[in-house]
Amino acid sequence: MSTPPLHHPAPDTGLLIVGGGPAGCAAARMAASVGMRSVLIEPDALCRNLYRIPALNNTLGGHTDGASLATAITGELNNTALCHIELGRYVTELRAHDDHVTATLDNGRRLTAPYAIAATGVAPLQPRDVSWITVSSPLPLPPLWQAGPEEAENRTLLVLGGDRLIGTFLRAHPRTRTRLLVAYPASDDYKVEEIRDDPRVTLHPVAHLTLHRLATAETRGRDGIPHRLAADATYLSIGSAPAPPPGGLRPAPGGYCPPAAQHPRLIVAGDLRSPRYQRIQTALGSGAEAALRAYYTARDVPTGETG
Ligand SMILES: Cc1cc2nc3c(=O)[nH]c(=O)nc-3n(C[C@H](O)[C@H](O)[C@H](O)COP(=O)(O)OP(=O)(O)OC[C@H]3O[C@@H](n4cnc5c(N)ncnc54)[C@H](O)[C@@H]3O)c2cc1C
Repeated sequence: MSTPPLHHPAPDTGLLIVGGGPAGCAAARMAASVGMRSVLIEPDALCRNLYRIPALNNTLGGHTDGASLATAITGELNNTALCHIELGRYVTELRAHDDHVTATLDNGRRLTAPYAIAATGVAPLQPRDVSWITVSSPLPLPPLWQAGPEEAENRTLLVLGGDRLIGTFLRAHPRTRTRLLVAYPASDDYKVEEIRDDPRVTLHPVAHLTLHRLATAETRGRDGIPHRLAADATYLSIGSAPAPPPGGLRPAPGGYCPPAAQHPRLIVAGDLRSPRYQRIQTALGSGAEAALRAYYTARDVPTGETG
């Protein structure tokens, strides 16, 4: 695949990397290894999602929890001279043109490069995204897996949805005394099996839930009987959805951005590609591959792929 040479405007770097999760960090590291400069844009901390993963059993390299892997990756990135890390900023628009790409940041600054890698992963679904919850406040609610022990200790948490990450939370805080009131729709019935026997969990199968204040809800059970749930705080466990930066990416139905469907100057890596393969190791591999794709394409070197 060849793209026209860069004529205009002068690039700020060789590669823009949007998102500092495992995919974006692997892209930056691989780009540097072949001499490409990059700018990586991340609104939060590098590999922020890994810090809450209590145990790892599917990632090579000797890391047994997400925090130790995140710390190692962050240290390596901070020592990658060819990568400029733009922390605390996010991309509000990513566009591809014939001979360059542009990324607009939330402060209005515009960055230009020959290629960009979109590695923005997935974000938690909100109540407005599902029909079984009615909520008056438009404020986003946090996912349960982001809650630390200090937010859970001796508290009752209302959890909306029965997605599997509740099990991750309980394993992450085995000694934390908390009470989870889990209200979930019929589609999550099979997912709650792994938490059913945890004494900290009370399951509330519901047909509909109305969140009145931040931790008080009226529910209609599957039997039609109303209940009232009161807790100290409300967290989400209703799943996640792809979070592409706005602009020129071409999502498939469902919102994921298949790499093969994109403009040749926009390369997608990590969880944003599809609902399958959402793992740290696959994100690392796809980020590294995305950087090599930009490197070879810029030099008109065929990669030997056929499809
Ligand atoms: C609770 C939990 C437990 C998990 N456990 C495991 C496990 O045990 N093993 C495993 O292999 N995987 C696990 N995963 C999955 C794994 O974390 C993901 O597959 C991996 O983090 C995906 O990497 P990524 O770089 O594609 O995306 P992410 O890690 O999601 O990183 C995307 C980054 O993009 C940033 N971003 C988003 N929008 C923008 C924007 N507009 N501009 C700039 N930056 C933006 C975000 O801030 C984020 O840092 C778990 C996930 C969770 C949530």
